[in-house]
This record gives sequence, structure tokens and C-alpha cells, in this order.
Amino acid sequence: MNKSKSILEVIDGKQTEQGYFVNSDFLRLKDTGSYLLSKGFWSSNQNFNSLELYGEFNLKITCTRCLKKISRKIIVKKKYIIFNTTNEVIKYYKQERSRFDAVSIEEKLTLILLFEEELLFKTTNIYFHSNCSLPSKHIKEIKLRSEPDDENQTHKPFLSLKQKLHK
Ligand SMILES: [Zn+2]
Repeated sequence: MNKSKSILEVIDGKQTEQGYFVNSDFLRLKDTGSYLLSKGFWSSNQNFNSLELYGEFNLKITCTRCLKKISRKIIVKKKYIIFNTTNEVIKYYKQERSRFDAVSIEEKLTLILLFEEELLFKTTNIYFHSNCSLPSKHIKEIKLRSEPDDENQTHKPFLSLKQKLHK
């Protein structure tokens, strides 16, 4: 699966691929002031409609308190179920205790979009760095928001991504 050209689809069997992302792949991330310090490794492991993604990214992120740049290594590890239609995705989320993120072929997603959405999600939740010297009167509030519990969060990026794209 080419990282940018191929749209996600259900395949007849198994397929493992890997490659690298560069800064020009992530334009929405760039808009937030974050960027890759080096090429970002990715791998995908698809088994029929089940897609596992892994990525390692060294990022520069802007601290939202002092606006200094901070370096973070971000690991992306996600499993998606691919459905044919967005209606099936909505059904999946409604029916079961949906363990994985679901995406649909209709959304015409690429690996770049999937990884970028994760990076946006993770970087916007890093509000400031641990050694930040700038005091903030809203520190308690920010602190709460700065430490998301990734594991327990039901994060359905592509329903919201879709809304964003069609705004
Ligand atoms: Zn700071």
C-alpha cells in the first residue's frame, strides 16, 4: 500500500508494508507548528479488513505556555477495522463495545491521513513541557488536559475528520 496514493480498502489476504514519512506528507501538522525532526518510520500490517499501524516519529512541538519548541518522540500504534460504508462504521460504534477505530472505504483515507490524524491528536494534547519556566494562572486546568489517558479514550478520529473536511 503506497502511503499516499492508495486509498484504504479491504484486501483478500495479508499484506505487510513499511516506509518513511517526510515533513511534506503532513501539511495539517505543519499548520499547528509541529514538524518531524527526522524521517518518520511507519509499518502497516493488514489482514482482510483488519489494519494494524505502527509508527515512530521524532517531533518538534510548540509548548502552548511559553511557545518554545520541545522535542518529543511519539509512537503511534493503532488497529482499525475497515468497513465498506460509513453507515457500517456508525453501526459498529453503536452496536458493540467498539475496541478498535473503524474507518470506511467511502472516506477515501490514506496512510498519511491516518497517521497525521494520530499525530494531531497526540500533539494537541501536549499543552506544555515538564520543565516549562513560564507560570500560568490556569495551570491546574491545563495540567488536567495535558495528560490524556490514551488507552481508555474512545477516539473516533475519522468521523470527526470527515466533518472537518466537509466544513
Ligand atoms: Zn513551555
